[in-house]
Amino acid sequence: MTASTTTRSTCPYCGVGCGVLIDSEGGRITRVRGDPEHPANFGRLCSKGSTLHLTARPEVQAQVRLLQPLQRAQRGGAALPLAWDQALDTLGQRIAATVQQHGADAVGLYVSGQLLTEDYYVFNKFAKGLLGTNNIDTNSRLCMSSAVAGYKATLGADAPPACYDDIAQAATLFISGANPAWAHPILFRRIEDARRANPALKIIVCDPRRTDTAELADLHLALQPGSDVWLYHGMLRCMLEQSWIDPQFIATRTQGWMGLAALVTQATPEAVQQHCGIAPGDLLRAARWFAGVQDGNSTRQPTLSLYCQGLNQSAHGTDNNTALINLHLACGQIGKPGAGPLSLTGQPNAMGGREVGALANQLSAHRNLADARHRAEVAALWGVPSVPAAPGKAAIEMFQAAADGQIKLLWIACTNPAHSLPDQALVRRALQRAEYVVVQDAYATGATARFADLLLPASTWGEKEGTVTNSERRISRVRAAVPAPDLAWADWRIVTEVARRLQPQLPDRAHLPSLFPYDGPEAIWNEHRESTRGRDLDITGLSWAQLETAPRQWPCPEGQSQGLARLYTNQHFATPDGRARFAVQLPGTVADPIDARHPLALLTGRLRDQWHGLSRSGLVENLWAHASEPVAQMAREDMDRLGLAPGDLAYLTSRRGSVLAPVQAGEGLRSGQVFMAMHWGDEVLGGASSTGKRLAGVNALTTAARCPQSLQPELKHAAIKVLKA
Ligand code: SF4
Repeated sequence: MTASTTTRSTCPYCGVGCGVLIDSEGGRITRVRGDPEHPANFGRLCSKGSTLHLTARPEVQAQVRLLQPLQRAQRGGAALPLAWDQALDTLGQRIAATVQQHGADAVGLYVSGQLLTEDYYVFNKFAKGLLGTNNIDTNSRLCMSSAVAGYKATLGADAPPACYDDIAQAATLFISGANPAWAHPILFRRIEDARRANPALKIIVCDPRRTDTAELADLHLALQPGSDVWLYHGMLRCMLEQSWIDPQFIATRTQGWMGLAALVTQATPEAVQQHCGIAPGDLLRAARWFAGVQDGNSTRQPTLSLYCQGLNQSAHGTDNNTALINLHLACGQIGKPGAGPLSLTGQPNAMGGREVGALANQLSAHRNLADARHRAEVAALWGVPSVPAAPGKAAIEMFQAAADGQIKLLWIACTNPAHSLPDQALVRRALQRAEYVVVQDAYATGATARFADLLLPASTWGEKEGTVTNSERRISRVRAAVPAPDLAWADWRIVTEVARRLQPQLPDRAHLPSLFPYDGPEAIWNEHRESTRGRDLDITGLSWAQLETAPRQWPCPEGQSQGLARLYTNQHFATPDGRARFAVQLPGTVADPIDARHPLALLTGRLRDQWHGLSRSGLVENLWAHASEPVAQMAREDMDRLGLAPGDLAYLTSRRGSVLAPVQAGEGLRSGQVFMAMHWGDEVLGGASSTGKRLAGVNALTTAARCPQSLQPELKHAAIKVLKA
């Protein structure tokens, strides 16, 4: 009998970042338990985390894994095996030839918030340091880029100021555009705990739908899609009129108040009611609770905001974020226990990608691409003459450029854009037009794999080593409990091996020492750690050995042994003068408005028991019990009006495409709204419903319209019509 071993690691699903204990025996993962010592979850796991071992069963993995390098001689043809050396040589030569013929900007790398920080780091260095292009972006663009832009515009740095412990210390929780009951379940347990411990806790939920999170709310503000800024402006106007603002904080710790104060006078209760559908009494109550002015208490009570894709995935995503942070600044609700804005990351390592700068408009360690000094610092760290100054193409732009023939070679890692990007017609044109498509993934089942000329097998959760950072800036180790299948490699290793082949072929890099001398994730992490010296996320005080003992929050500069739980406690912000900035934003509306032809508002979101494109969570039978089929939920009266009975198939059609789905009554929806989960793509386990009809993914409907500052697309909303099939 082989001995059972236990390995400490981190859940690979959402940004809560729960610690897990993986039991394994004879190279097989047998059980996953919550890690009682991990400060993100203290032993708890949700339905997804607690069934991770079922996703790792070798017999299940064998059905879905990409287990050897494969190439296609032509699109649509069979993918045939080739040796790793051949695959790496081929890719190195293809990239070198593309750069020689068309320049480095003809290459695009599209990576993922599910990569580990070390994988992310080498991908970013590969693009910006070796190739000389900023054409690297990530599916975190679809997730958190509006939060990034919001933090930077107001607080001066992309640093979530609060922490999970603040949930227990808040007097008001303002949950906006988020459904943690389903999307961040273990964080929601903390919210329930806080409610039990403090019955006076006020919970406000802003969401067009009456979600499970909204069920817990003292006040549910069921605002109209796209009307977030109207709501926040209306609340600020109330605070001003009622003298609930903090004039001292505004005068000494901020800039830009007068312009905003003048602007919000237009957000009268009547205007808010018209745009948001929120009654004046509810608006006033929300403003009072947010400001921390509660009955019978003369001191201001702390308010914590928790927010997610409802704010971010919008053509006004940055404005939604800055308008919410304005409320915190106006009331001094920041930098103290229980107070502050805390964005909830969707993906397990969206934070890590931001830290290493693996976005088209960022550089390592939160440096700015537009800053020549920052570019010079990164070039010096990497030992290259320069890094390019021109911003690269963000996610949608990258696929648009491929569709237009400007980007010739696409290297896609650990993500499935033929499912997850909006406007799938555009994405598929791009994948067809690109001259060479590389898909690097653990799974062979993603829709994008069908378009690949070269497929590279990667190792995955349970098999790989590295780090991730969760929503509260906490860095945790991810560890291997079992070996990867023979020919599946760690992502960092694949990139490193391609880089070693490519560097001698690039005239301005060939003479340099190897830029990728890594022998493992620790060496990469050490280089990343040094890149943070003196930056807002400085982790030079944190060693790999310390991380082995416990997860730590950043910043943790040299000389400190613990990271900071909460930022801006000294009320000094990360701006040149230390003052936060009020951002002035005009209220907008949705990018894809309803009209007579497309009279219904499609809202997208997550299901409780599934994750993203289902490649992992879809392997667990029990997780299908909650929602076994793609369905479109509608208000009962709309179904009656359209002659639809529960289970009827209907075509959902937007200005970009059409999908076929069964309909169901959705209790939490208003008339005029339709909800469909983002998990359903046309590759989902055969893509067929119980009726045998093929189903297309919801992103055939969504729009590529995006926020001009963050470039995050409006995945949350589209105008559609629904017709019985
Ligand atoms: Fe994993 Fe998120 Fe569930 Fe925690 S809450 S177990 S990180 S999916």
